[in-house]
Amino acid sequence: MSMDRGTGNLDALYREVILDHHRSPRNYGDLSGAEVKVEGYNPLCGDRVEISVKREGQNRSVKCAFKGEGCSICMASASMMTEEVEGKPAEKAEEIITAFRALMKGEECPLAVEGDLESLVGVRNFPVRIKCALLPWTTLNDALEKLKEKSA
Ligand code: ZN
Repeated sequence: MSMDRGTGNLDALYREVILDHHRSPRNYGDLSGAEVKVEGYNPLCGDRVEISVKREGQNRSVKCAFKGEGCSICMASASMMTEEVEGKPAEKAEEIITAFRALMKGEECPLAVEGDLESLVGVRNFPVRIKCALLPWTTLNDALEKLKEKSA
């Protein structure tokens, strides 16, 4: 994982990945058959997201979609997140959320974070933007909690 802490700039390749998700967000819009919807707001930047979640198939795997308005980092992070957790059981999705939060806070990360998500690591160089990257994830976490309450 390459990261240039010195320059304070996002690596060009990573920036390209973020912009790609921002321009063509994955799983954007309404989710048919959504079991829960949760809204998240980041007052520091004005980012808003709405995450909808359902479970499907025999192993009750997670499928989620998002809507909202926000900066490129927030929207790209939401887009990557929906791809990352798709098809995984809720417990696994929670593990990924925990790992991503730890990574963004510079704490020890219990899981390897790979692929497009790696592009967000550079955001740690901009402390005020960390909340932008985390908003979709904390909102999904709330949604998964609600889902648990529903099925309890
Ligand atoms: Zn933002």
